[in-house]
Amino acid sequence: MPKFIVFLGPPGAGKGTQAQLVAKEFDFPHISSGDIFRENIKNRTDLGLKAKGYMEQGDLVPDELTISMIQERLEREDCRDGAILDGFPRTPAQAKSLEKILADLGGQVNIVPFINVPEEVLVRRLSGRWICRAEGHVFHELHNPPKKAGICDYDGSELYQREDDEEETVKNRIKVYFQKTRPLIEYYQTAGLLKEIDGDKPINDVVEELKNVISQAI
Ligand code: ADP
Ligand code: AMP
Repeated sequence: MPKFIVFLGPPGAGKGTQAQLVAKEFDFPHISSGDIFRENIKNRTDLGLKAKGYMEQGDLVPDELTISMIQERLEREDCRDGAILDGFPRTPAQAKSLEKILADLGGQVNIVPFINVPEEVLVRRLSGRWICRAEGHVFHELHNPPKKAGICDYDGSELYQREDDEEETVKNRIKVYFQKTRPLIEYYQTAGLLKEIDGDKPINDVVEELKNVISQAI
């Protein structure tokens, strides 16, 4: 039975950073809805054109577009044993659709690690974030700097700062998180799947805790 892990947490909590590390450890694909949208924008696809305006404002892309994109991704062969979801679901409607999609694939959500970080830390994290052009590897200029400034340690591609990491957009993204995504915490708590992790610790400490809770659940 395929097993799915859903990473929850505010923007800047460390979901992408941790999902990349945990995916390697458990040999699962790391599926980031934000990365897929950015790839579509880069390639100027129809979906990318539709998503761009929402992302630039720090608003959510509408559910119908997001859900069909994720469904298509989860139906691919590399997800036959499961996957790590980072950034999806972000609304109750997305969470309900995910259950149906996974049931059709013969699977379910096995655990929902909620990476919790105080709000005042998030802006500092996002304003120092650098991302690689090739694969979205994540760095921070102080907390997780690349060996060579501006260059990805893993694939040598150029690092850039996301336009939506600019302070005003970050504030809107955090507001949207509290309005639309935060209710999922109660949803998954009620389902008995939520595991809260203190994300305000060094990256290596957070990953150890995550590996522990995930290995007990899958
Ligand atoms: P999210 O995917 O939740 O938006 P990221 O994984 O992209 O968050 O992390 C946001 C920024 O914070 C990145 O620059 C990352 O390097 C940095 N970061 C991630 N985890 C930690 C941590 N535990 N301590 C300090 N900085 C971190
Ligand atoms: P992220 O890379 O997770 O920070 O997401 C970047 C942006 O992509 C968000 O601010 C949204 O505009 C969009 N996005 C990513 N995932 C979703 C989702 N599940 N639902 C709606 N919009 C999303």
